[in-house]
Amino acid sequence: MTTTLMTDAGPVAPDAPVTRTGGIPLAPAGTEWPHCAECTGPMQFLAQFFLEDGPGAIAVFMCQNQPGLCQAWDPVAGGNRALLFPSEGLVPVPLPGPDGEGTDADAADGWSVLGLGAVRAVARAAAPEPDYFDACAAWAARTGRATAEVLGQLGGTPYWLQNDETPDCPGCAQPMAFTAQLDEGPDPVTAMNFGSGSAYLHACGPCGRAAFGWQC
Ligand SMILES: [Zn+2]
Ligand SMILES: [Zn+2]
Repeated sequence: MTTTLMTDAGPVAPDAPVTRTGGIPLAPAGTEWPHCAECTGPMQFLAQFFLEDGPGAIAVFMCQNQPGLCQAWDPVAGGNRALLFPSEGLVPVPLPGPDGEGTDADAADGWSVLGLGAVRAVARAAAPEPDYFDACAAWAARTGRATAEVLGQLGGTPYWLQNDETPDCPGCAQPMAFTAQLDEGPDPVTAMNFGSGSAYLHACGPCGRAAFGWQC
């Protein structure tokens, strides 16, 4: 078994229909910007995945509102959201309205409660090492690039930093399929905030559900 690494492929348009971190989420027309179930504030958009061999496209959000007490790491507490859609016919999700805590100006001004300060395209790199940690180190050695330029992996085996936290699907009660692991990225100013840890994306294609959580 090999590992499919996600590596930093540099800047890309904020609404590009590609797998990327940052920018603007794409979803079916009429989709509202998700709000945190704990503090009710609008969430920060982290990443968009287009899963060529998987169940579709996934947009990932996480609460970054002050004072930062929401359980954004927990796959079921409501402090984050992973939305699974068909890959076709997606449009940019409108930013939350004037009652939301974020505005267009915030989003354009770098890191904000609504979005990351940079948009990074994700390239795929096949690695022969079955273990994610080994694959990161070997990829860095082969390419001469930093391991921080590995943004995660697609499919494969999750590299849990703590206990296995595979969520059960709220639709069918079966364990969800591991879909991607996400790391914070090379730029500390604009990186996703997983407490220097890793995030884990799971999905259930038949039920159209996805779940997100992180560990450090
Ligand atoms: Zn919150
Ligand atoms: Zn299910």
